[in-house]
Amino acid sequence: MVKIGLERIDTQEGVMVEALLDSRATRLVISSEFAKKQGFKLKKLERPMNVRNVDGLLNKEGPIEYIVEVNIYYQGHRKRMEIDVIGGQKWMVILGIPWLACHNPEIDWKTGKVKMTRCLEECSKQWRPVQGKLGWEKQKEEEAKEEARRRREEKEKKKQKKEKTMEVKKVAKEWKI
Ligand SMILES: [Zn+2]
Repeated sequence: MVKIGLERIDTQEGVMVEALLDSRATRLVISSEFAKKQGFKLKKLERPMNVRNVDGLLNKEGPIEYIVEVNIYYQGHRKRMEIDVIGGQKWMVILGIPWLACHNPEIDWKTGKVKMTRCLEECSKQWRPVQGKLGWEKQKEEEAKEEARRRREEKEKKKQKKEKTMEVKKVAKEWKI
């Protein structure tokens, strides 16, 4: 799993999302529910495309009818790519061979570490995420808020636990147990 940024081509708004790296996937996949929720523009293909899964069987959701075109950011690398839109899958994004072949990263499958050391020169040149764009900023803010909320909750929980322990101790003392 890697955290990537997906940027809308039209508005240049971005979202961060956990993606699955899958060297067996012949294409890139985005969940249709996620794509719609995030406001990505779905492009209808002129002709639906039959896609075979890893096991050689046709995709049970039927042929691909839509794709989205996005900029995919990872570790400062940006690549404009087309992603197949598929409904009812558990991953939000799957990065298959086209993305892997483009950056040819060194992947430690045991630890999950990904090193972008083997990119072509033109790839590393076009890196630099768009800064200060609304979507990214908004998300960063939301993530910070979420983190603060989580911390507050944790603190509250600790406090409650401590109070409970004190109470038990008090009762134990009174009852001499
Ligand atoms: Zn690259």
